[in-house]
Amino acid sequence: MRITVLGAAAGGGFPQWNCNCANCAGVRAGTLRAEPRTQSSIFIRPDNSDDGVLFNASPDILEQIRANPALQPGRTLRDTAIAGVVLMDGQVDHTTGLFMLRERDAPLPLWCTDPVFEDLSLGNPVLRVLGHFCGVQRTRIPLDGSAFEVSGVAGLQFRALPLQSKAPPYSPHREQPVAGDNIGISVTDSRSGKTLFYAPGLGAIEPAVFEAMASADCVMVDGTFWTDDEMVGLGISAKTARSIGHLPQSGPGGMVEWLGKLPARTRRMLIHINNTNPILDADSSQRDALTRERVEVCEDRQEIVL
Ligand SMILES: [Zn+2]
Ligand SMILES: [Zn+2]
Repeated sequence: MRITVLGAAAGGGFPQWNCNCANCAGVRAGTLRAEPRTQSSIFIRPDNSDDGVLFNASPDILEQIRANPALQPGRTLRDTAIAGVVLMDGQVDHTTGLFMLRERDAPLPLWCTDPVFEDLSLGNPVLRVLGHFCGVQRTRIPLDGSAFEVSGVAGLQFRALPLQSKAPPYSPHREQPVAGDNIGISVTDSRSGKTLFYAPGLGAIEPAVFEAMASADCVMVDGTFWTDDEMVGLGISAKTARSIGHLPQSGPGGMVEWLGKLPARTRRMLIHINNTNPILDADSSQRDALTRERVEVCEDRQEIVL
């Protein structure tokens, strides 16, 4: 399978429109060795197919389609390589792009869990609004570990894993998180036998999560924050990384420590990187620390073949 990183940044993107932190100001001024990044999304297609699956629909989806010609194969007057959309959660930075896909003449094939479907029908009724345009053809993502497929994308099997997290701010059950608010997904290519584990929002590594990571050939996981108090330290927010469902990379029990426990053959990649994270700066000591641990920092338009 071919995995294309459409957007490697967390919500807000990099640089974020209203932010003048050292990273955002530096990348705007060209004084920082860093690449701008759009908001979190990947596209996966089998080796022998143009059509694939879009994971999350970022507010930057139109820019991402323009930047990645493979998403527009141009076979007919109206065409797309997006055979279906799979949602990891119901957050704004992962679902707003659904509005941008409304000019279809058939309902948009959409896979999401029940709690995400509820949030996008009630709290933030994106799907009800879309009903006035193309509409969606929704399929439930099972949470019992059973495999599902996306029609039009033969040879790829998907398995969801519920992750510890919080529901979005507009969710009717914001304070009572339920299984399926946020998922990780293992994607297995039946031809190559290879597996990707993808979890752009990951608050804690529970045993089942580590098991899924350890049995994958490549993991693409939460790279939002370097430290738990990153936003607090900058005076941007009173919330810690963990309190909003993101395991920080550094320190005891952090993501880097967990990645170090994976088998030597596993490719380790961080995605969904917040604009405040020092790992965006290619000259930072934090990036050096990742390089020493063989952990990669995803970039937009990067392609991985598994
Ligand atoms: Zn996000
Ligand atoms: Zn910033």
